[in-house]
Amino acid sequence: MNEKSIRKIVIVGGGTAGWMAAAPLAKMLRREGQAPCEIVVIESPEIGTIGVGEATLPPIRFYNATLGLDGVDFVKKTQATFKLGIEFKDWGELGHRFFHGFGDFGPAIENRSPFQHWLRLHRAGGMPSYEEWSTATVMARSNRFTPPVGDRPAAANAFSFAFHFDAGLYAAYLRDYAVQRGAERIEGTIVAVDVRTNDGFVSAVKLRDGRRVEGDLFIDCSGFRGLLIEGAMKAGYEDWSAMLPCNSALAVPCERVEPLTPYTTSTARSAGWAWRIPLQHRTGNGHVYCNQFINDDDAARVLLEGLDGAALDTPRQLRFTTGRRRRTWVKNVVAMGLAAGFVEPLESTSIQLIMDGVGRLIELFPDRDFQPALAAEYNRRMASQFESIRDFIVLHYKLTRRTDSEFWRYCAAMPVSDSLAHQIELFRSSARVTIYDRDGFAEPSWVSILMGNGLMPESYDPAVDQVDEQALRSHFTRLHQAISRTAADMPLHGDYIARHAKA
Ligand code: FAD
Repeated sequence: MNEKSIRKIVIVGGGTAGWMAAAPLAKMLRREGQAPCEIVVIESPEIGTIGVGEATLPPIRFYNATLGLDGVDFVKKTQATFKLGIEFKDWGELGHRFFHGFGDFGPAIENRSPFQHWLRLHRAGGMPSYEEWSTATVMARSNRFTPPVGDRPAAANAFSFAFHFDAGLYAAYLRDYAVQRGAERIEGTIVAVDVRTNDGFVSAVKLRDGRRVEGDLFIDCSGFRGLLIEGAMKAGYEDWSAMLPCNSALAVPCERVEPLTPYTTSTARSAGWAWRIPLQHRTGNGHVYCNQFINDDDAARVLLEGLDGAALDTPRQLRFTTGRRRRTWVKNVVAMGLAAGFVEPLESTSIQLIMDGVGRLIELFPDRDFQPALAAEYNRRMASQFESIRDFIVLHYKLTRRTDSEFWRYCAAMPVSDSLAHQIELFRSSARVTIYDRDGFAEPSWVSILMGNGLMPESYDPAVDQVDEQALRSHFTRLHQAISRTAADMPLHGDYIARHAKA
């Protein structure tokens, strides 16, 4: 710590984002049990949290590991289950199913993606679906789960996984972690933000009960309202509704049913889609839709009719505008979570964006000079990641061949970004995928969504023709057998949890 170091961080909001920011900062800034830098988290019991956001992506495991969380304790305390990917139903066309499994389609062959070799054999005929070389997908389809085993490449570790958890319990888990490491929790509702007249920096927030909380760095995790980043700093919002038209959601939990599936289900509906997220104590459900194409009552009916267990509550309504804050770091305010933007929950990317936002802040951690280049770099990286995730989500809608509702006809015809138009054309013409942002989705994920929605490329990488076809077929057959056998030998997901991580 030197004379320019940040002395106090004020985190506005105690939802998933607030506590996901507080926990690693408390760990990083703690010295021998004493935090040289104070961390304060302000949450408003009057306003509450959004309370959804229960499906994650594999890097959540690294976030938890960085904090040093005990994996089994975390699963028990958050009523978590394991997630191997997402099953998509009725996307692309009615009656069609596909899977976005975590991990790849096997090892590279002669330095080329196994998908290119699969395409070559598929064109020649006699190849099962490429999904059968995704270990995660094969495990998920038979409801099997056990964590990856062994260090040497094998079917038993050729997959990745994430979690489904109770969002409220996860935030509470991280709150306990952060408070134990010196973070202070303040309950109160902020009614005003003090901005210094000389430089436009935030100096303090004022609570309804008259308290004034000063700080050097403010992290805005106040949710959609963006109390500081928009309210005080006027960062601006880039509205993506034209290409991500869903603007509403209804969420309702229902009783857990058997079997306990190790994956999220996303079912396309006439004006949006419905999620199903299995937890240990209940199943989370929601209907994400555009209210210009279906009214709220009909949307609630669609949600309730689709439940596979008895509803445990009445549906809760949420509204949002997809897009991102033009700048997520302005002067001494950094926005995270919904305050930074919201793409929509189709691929569970919001928690990922929080994690990456916190990670980048730690990497680019400022002192009280708040060098503008740090903010510029942070904003550049966040913008790039947000946009690459946006393209990935829009792709699901854009490739639809459904014509049975106005919503899907709109999606098929809507304009998309130049970057996504290029991605689609690149894949259609030559089976290649470009990765605009390394922190976004990797090639196997793009392939899953492109192919899953029925876009079969017109050619493939000519380099794969160098490999002997018979040897290649034998390789694919061996791998296929190994994956099927390995998955069949694994315990059922429900049994694995009952034995190792029951809440
Ligand atoms: P919130 O939960 O809204 O928390 C805001 C906090 O700010 C609260 O503590 C509140 O009290 C406080 N606050 C606000 N105003 C004030 C004030 N004036 N004074 C004091 N405190 C204040 N993400 C995923 O990764 N996976 C998913 O499956 C997923 N599903 C989703 C489904 C839907 C329908 C939606 C809308 C979002 C989903 N998300 C998902 C996103 C996820 O819910 C959020 O990223 C996550 O919950 C973080 O929210 P937050 O902490 O930013 O905001």
